[in-house]
Amino acid sequence: MPKPAVKTKEVPACERILGFSEVTCGYTQEEAILEASRCLQCKDPKCIPGCPVGINIKQFIKQVTQKDFAGAYYTIREKNNFPCICGRVCPAEYQCRKACVLTKKDSPFASADSINIHFIERFVGDFGMKNGLKVNIIPDEKISGHKVAVVGSGPAGLCCAGELARLGVKVTVFEALHKNGGVLRYGIPPFRMPRDILDFEINYLKSLGVEILPNFIVGKTNDLADLFKEGFSAVFLGLGAGVPSFLGIAGENLCNVYSANEFLTRVNLMSAYEFPKAHTPVNIGKHILVVGGGNTAMDAARCALRLQKMNNIEPDTTIVYRRTEVEMPARRLEIEHAKEEGVKFKMLVSPQEFKGDDSGFVKVLKSLECKLGQPDASGRRRPVAIEGSDFEIECDLAIIAIGLKANQVLTSVTPEIKTDKYSDVIVNPQTMETSMRGVFAGGDIVGGEGTVIEAMGMAKKAALAIKDYLYQLPIK
Ligand SMILES: Cc1cc2nc3c(=O)[nH]c(=O)nc-3n(C[C@H](O)[C@H](O)[C@H](O)COP(=O)(O)OP(=O)(O)OC[C@H]3O[C@@H](n4cnc5c(N)ncnc54)[C@H](O)[C@@H]3O)c2cc1C
Ligand code: SF4
Repeated sequence: MPKPAVKTKEVPACERILGFSEVTCGYTQEEAILEASRCLQCKDPKCIPGCPVGINIKQFIKQVTQKDFAGAYYTIREKNNFPCICGRVCPAEYQCRKACVLTKKDSPFASADSINIHFIERFVGDFGMKNGLKVNIIPDEKISGHKVAVVGSGPAGLCCAGELARLGVKVTVFEALHKNGGVLRYGIPPFRMPRDILDFEINYLKSLGVEILPNFIVGKTNDLADLFKEGFSAVFLGLGAGVPSFLGIAGENLCNVYSANEFLTRVNLMSAYEFPKAHTPVNIGKHILVVGGGNTAMDAARCALRLQKMNNIEPDTTIVYRRTEVEMPARRLEIEHAKEEGVKFKMLVSPQEFKGDDSGFVKVLKSLECKLGQPDASGRRRPVAIEGSDFEIECDLAIIAIGLKANQVLTSVTPEIKTDKYSDVIVNPQTMETSMRGVFAGGDIVGGEGTVIEAMGMAKKAALAIKDYLYQLPIK
C-alpha cells in the first residue's frame, strides 16, 4: 500500500472569500520531498505519455527526492517553459496524474493516491524563480539576424517567443489588449494565478530581448502583409479562442446577463474587485446564476461569490449544469474549492428562457430538468430534457460560461489562411504551418479550447518548425 498523498495547505474558505489572494499555498521543501518519495519510479512510467508535452516526470521527481531541485528545474524546463504557471493551473487529474499507475483502473480522473505531480512541479518552478535559475541562451548564427512576429501574448505566443529568443531571433509580440498574458491574465483569477508569478515569467522573456507591443490588433492596426513588408521573416499566430458562445435562448440579451468572458475580463483584467480604486465596475446581484461546468464557470462563480462577500451581500451564487458533477470538465480541485467557498451546484438543468422585469433586468431563469442519455461524441452522457418538468430559478445576475470560439478578427481579413467549420486555423500537424507560407499557428486557435500546456506544446513544435523555415531563408 502506498503512503497517503501529502496534502498542500490552503487558506481557509472563510478567509479566502474576502479577497483575491492565492488559495493553495504549495508544498514546503519537506512536503515536496515526502510526496516525491511516494513515487514508485516505475520501469514503464505511464505518467510521461500522460503529459501533453512529455516532461520526464519520473526523472524530476527522483531529483526532488535527492534534493537536486536545480536539476529537477532544468529537467522540467526541457519541455515546459513555465513550470510555475503549469504547476498551478494544469488539469493534472486528467493528464499525468490520471495516467500514474497509482490511479485506480477505469477511474475518470486521478485517484486521491496518485502522485501529486503538479504540486511537486509547482514547488520546483517556484524554487527556480526564487533562485534566479535561467536556461541557456544559445544564439544560432544562421538565424539570429531574423525577426519573427508573434500575434497574441497568451501561453502559446509567449512560449513560441521564448523558444525563438533563446536562439537569438529578434521576436516582437503584438497583443490586442493593453496587458499581456492572454487568458492567464484576463480569464484566470489571481486567486489561482497570482499576477506576480505571471509578471515574473513575462519579464524573464523581456530579459531575453522579446519586445511586447500592447494595444496592437493584427488584422486592424495592420495586417500580415504589412508585417512581412516590415521585415519579419515569419509569423506565429497564438490568437486564442476569445469569442464567447451563448445559449441562444430568449431573454439572453436582458440587462445583467453577462458572458463569462466579459465578467471575468472586468474582474480580473480591469480589477473590478478594487472598484472604485480601479475604474471598471461590475454589477453584483443578490442571486447569481452561472451556466456551465468548465473552468470558466468555476472561475466566474468563485469571483462572483467573492464580490458578493466583499460588498456585504449574503453570498448566493449557484452553478447550473446540464449534466452531473462527474461529467463536469472543470478541474476537480476548482470544483472542490468552489464548494468549500459556498458556491451552490444545481445539476441536470437545461436553461430554456430568461425572464426580466419591466426595466429589462433579468429576474428568473426558466428551465427543464434533465436526465442522462447515451454518450455523445465527447464520450460524456448526453443530457436529455424532461418534458413537463419546468421550473424557475430566481436570478438578478446571470453569467453564461458554456464555451469559447475562435477570434476571427485576423483570419476574416486574411483569406490566404484556411480555417475549418469552427473558424479554427488549419495547420500541418507536423510543423504547425498554416496555408500561408511562413505563417504558423498554435494554441486554442488551432483545434479549439484546450489547456495551457497543450497551447505551449503546439507553440514549441511551431518554434522548431520556424527555426527550420528560417534556415532556408538567406542569412540576414
Ligand atoms: C476562464 C478560463 C479558465 C481557464 N482555466 C484553465 C486552467 O485552469 N488550466 C488550463 O490548463 N487551462 C485553462 N483554461 C484554458 C487556457 O487558458 C487556454 O487553453 C490557453 O490560455 C490558450 O492559450 P492561447 O495562447 O492559445 O490563447 P489565449 O490565452 O486566449 O491568448 C490569446 C491572446 O491573443 C490576443 N489576440 C487575439 N487576436 C489578436 C490579434 N488579431 N492581434 C493581437 N492580439 C490578438 C488575445 O487578446 C489574447 O491575449 C482556461 C480558460 C478560461 C477562459
Ligand atoms: S506513473 Fe506515478 S508512480 Fe510511476 S513514475 Fe510516474 S508518477 Fe511515479
